[in-house]
Amino acid sequence: MKWVTFQRIEDAHFHVMPLDDLRGHFPHDDCWCCPSEDEETPNVMVHHAMDAREAFESGERLPS
Ligand SMILES: [Zn+2]
Repeated sequence: MKWVTFQRIEDAHFHVMPLDDLRGHFPHDDCWCCPSEDEETPNVMVHHAMDAREAFESGERLPS
């Protein structure tokens, strides 16, 4: 479960994106995953993994 932080020069946001997701992410607000702004850090956009690994990390789902 690797995540990568990416910042484009022309973009004020940092993008936190899941690495090796089922589908590649673009470090942009209109990425297919509809990234959401981090609640605690306003200039951070958090992308959503297609394989739902976030649910495992947060404990919502357990590996079977
Ligand atoms: Zn994304």
